[in-house]
Amino acid sequence: MALNIIDIISKKRDKKELNMDEISFFIDSVIDNSIEDYQISALLMAIYINGMTEIEMANLTKKMADSGEKIQFDFHPIVDKHSSGGIGDKVSLIISPMVSSCGLKIAKLSGRALGYSGGTIDKLESIPGFRTDLSSEEFKENVKKIGLAITGQTMNIAPADKKLYALRDVTGTVDSIPLIASSIMSKKLADGSDKIVLDVKCGSGAFMKRLEDAEKLARAMISIGENNGKETIAVISNMDEPLGYSVGNQLEVIEAINFLNGNYDKKLYDLCMELASEMLVLSGFKGSLEEGKRLLKENLDNKKALEKFREMVIYQGGDVTYIDNLDKFKDSKYSFNVLANDSGFVEKINSEDIGRILVLIGGGRIKKEDKIDPQVGIIVNKKIGDRVNKGDILYIIKYNDKKKLDNIKGMLDGIYKISDKYRTSNIILRKLRYER
Ligand code: URA
Repeated sequence: MALNIIDIISKKRDKKELNMDEISFFIDSVIDNSIEDYQISALLMAIYINGMTEIEMANLTKKMADSGEKIQFDFHPIVDKHSSGGIGDKVSLIISPMVSSCGLKIAKLSGRALGYSGGTIDKLESIPGFRTDLSSEEFKENVKKIGLAITGQTMNIAPADKKLYALRDVTGTVDSIPLIASSIMSKKLADGSDKIVLDVKCGSGAFMKRLEDAEKLARAMISIGENNGKETIAVISNMDEPLGYSVGNQLEVIEAINFLNGNYDKKLYDLCMELASEMLVLSGFKGSLEEGKRLLKENLDNKKALEKFREMVIYQGGDVTYIDNLDKFKDSKYSFNVLANDSGFVEKINSEDIGRILVLIGGGRIKKEDKIDPQVGIIVNKKIGDRVNKGDILYIIKYNDKKKLDNIKGMLDGIYKISDKYRTSNIILRKLRYER
């Protein structure tokens, strides 16, 4: 009997396992536009609610990876790091040039903002002229010449994911283990990387709020990677507060450049060092993680990592004078300070709501065709464990549209919890490797 999408949606709605033929039919129909967005969305919601078995997830990932072009490099190893998505997560902007400056080749295909979580491509586009639409030839050429390229999914890499990703963003189906794992890993199977370091976020600003879910997501992705011949490890990192001190596209680029100039937030530094040293060791660096960290620090201090970032900007058509003079980035028109109502310690920050604020002031998308305002964002002035006095600035909203600020005013006071409890938290929560 010929397959049809209504039966497939109904099967998943009824909690049954989809076979490879049904998954193939679905992905082929996404690609040839023979099913409607509302049918795709209905199946995504059924998967979101009822989950997928390991076999379904592996089949979906493989089919999505096979839906487009597969990049092949003629030099190896190519190492990649991918985050499951967080708030203020500018790690890729920082560690890609750091690791590349140590002699490794970084070929990175990155995504756009998804839900309340930011995307590296939107961030890089705040550098005037910076091209995120490299062809696969340009991408390979840049990696060969300078050892670093970061581009968007404009090549025909996993085109099925591109469509599903955009629909998930606007249908409340982002934070699902099978959908995140298949989305991330389909691109990793197609983008030519040999070794993969995953940064799986966990906490109030992550899709996975609980450690056990973050571990499940990490294990699912590791097993997809390893079963497809790519050595894969995962670091689970804390997303209970935004990473670093800024959230928003241009603000995060500025923070990344400040980092490469030697000015960094300690937890962001620790996470970057952990991920970057894992990338080095996974790719055959002759030394321990600690020795890897020493080399990375050396290349931060002697500005080789910054120079690598500049080189990438030049090769991708960006205006490098912005990197050399951060004052050239035009500030938003207005700022609004959110003040502490009490004295004490910062006990909690609702990072997901910080991400939502960014979207609502124009720094993310509500509809898939929305244009991003690169200038808007949030400066995080107080972090968990910091002492605050009543009236201190907790965070600053940078915005351009007064109406948008009016719409979110009701949310602003509930984001921080101040109490007399002093609490600190670790940035690295777990490391997971493949268990045979
Ligand atoms: N990053 C991706 O590429 N896909 C997701 O689903 C989430 C984060």
